[in-house]
Amino acid sequence: MKPKKYSPAHKSNKMAELVCSNSLKSDSPEKAAGILKNEMKELGSLILEAAYESKVSAGGALAVDREKFSEYITNKIKNNKLIEICNDEVTELPWSTKNQIIVVATGPLTSDSLSKNIEEKVGKRSLAFYDSISPIILYESIDKDQSFRASRYEDGPGDYINCPMNKDEYENFIGELIKSEKINFHDFEKVQYFEGCLPIEVMASRGIDTLRFGPMKPVGLIDPKTNKRPYAVIQLRKENQTESMWNIVGFQTKMKIQEQKRVFSMIPALKNAEFLRFGSIHKNTYLSSPDILNKFLQFRKNKNIFFAGQITGVEGYTESAAMGIIAGINASRLHAGINLIDFPKNTALGTLLNYISINDKTNFQPMNINLGLFNIEKPKKNIHKIIEDSKSEISKIINLI
Ligand SMILES: Cc1cc2nc3c(=O)[nH]c(=O)nc-3n(C[C@H](O)[C@H](O)[C@H](O)COP(=O)(O)OP(=O)(O)OC[C@H]3O[C@@H](n4cnc5c(N)ncnc54)[C@H](O)[C@@H]3O)c2cc1C
Repeated sequence: MKPKKYSPAHKSNKMAELVCSNSLKSDSPEKAAGILKNEMKELGSLILEAAYESKVSAGGALAVDREKFSEYITNKIKNNKLIEICNDEVTELPWSTKNQIIVVATGPLTSDSLSKNIEEKVGKRSLAFYDSISPIILYESIDKDQSFRASRYEDGPGDYINCPMNKDEYENFIGELIKSEKINFHDFEKVQYFEGCLPIEVMASRGIDTLRFGPMKPVGLIDPKTNKRPYAVIQLRKENQTESMWNIVGFQTKMKIQEQKRVFSMIPALKNAEFLRFGSIHKNTYLSSPDILNKFLQFRKNKNIFFAGQITGVEGYTESAAMGIIAGINASRLHAGINLIDFPKNTALGTLLNYISINDKTNFQPMNINLGLFNIEKPKKNIHKIIEDSKSEISKIINLI
């Protein structure tokens, strides 16, 4: 819809505008983000082609000159004779799509009129408008000597990993939470917090014991090491069935990423924690995808409509572009009347699709690509095996298309 109409964050009249950071994250072939990039490169990603053309040095990350990046993509699209560009706001999800195939990629700041119309067509609870996200930790990085498995008030093996703290540890932790640097909201993101979902630093600032009577309450938990109830407890809950990923219960936060690393490492069991996702609270329009999209990114109720980009429930520039590749390939195959591509779970593209289309949770929340999504079995699946599988599966897909 640019340049006729701008979202509150978009400013440039060019396409593929990076509204915040200029980094597309790690380019290392041994990181989840790097594995995803390799798959996208193999499949001919225009976004990555533009990123390498406009690359600026940034250590192991793929960072770009955002002006050159946008310009490259805008020129490629403008010069493609098969593409007709119409700069207009779409206010209704086209429904009678008998002879049309549609890809909706209106992003985390989808305009209000279209959001409203999607809700009307798809159902009241089909869209979410804010992420309130707790950090996720890699299982292997949790100190098992400083934590114990238990469910509150229950005997048996327990569903939670509990990270106990004594009085001094707790009080120091609260002090650092309050002092920590936070991310400022953009004006359009200013929200009235729900009392049931406050950032932990806001709770901490309300009084020294607020968290001990909230997400850090120790009641119903006995530490087997001391046979006593700890002074305070941080609980980790399973994020996936293979138990490779654990989220910190109730720890949505506006702390800056470096501050999250620093302050959360004061929790003894999380001293060396590897974060698969950091906590956040921000404006983000996304579908409750597991109920709405299938594994081809088609809308379940109308197979001629595909969704792509961040609105599908992934998080990040690269992940959003990855969903574009999948929707694009499958939309063109549907048009050609040939079978759609089912991206296998041992590819980065497939793990993301699996997460957004068949995630079994009722409270679906967006996700970055990370190693915990690769169905890591115990003992931990070797990174080289993950890379090998990804390469061989993607080359099979390339042969197919
Ligand atoms: C404020 C903000 C900051 C972010 N910062 C980062 C970051 O630093 N790093 C990162 O990895 N990710 C970031 N993200 C998340 C996400 O990766 C990016 O938003 C990414 O650009 C999403 O890509 P997309 O193609 O899905 O949507 P977008 O890039 O937003 O593209 C969607 C386009 O659709 C247009 N549009 C919206 N509604 C309509 C309509 N009704 N009709 C026609 N056109 C419409 C929009 O104007 C926009 O041009 C950020 C998100 C937000 C909201």
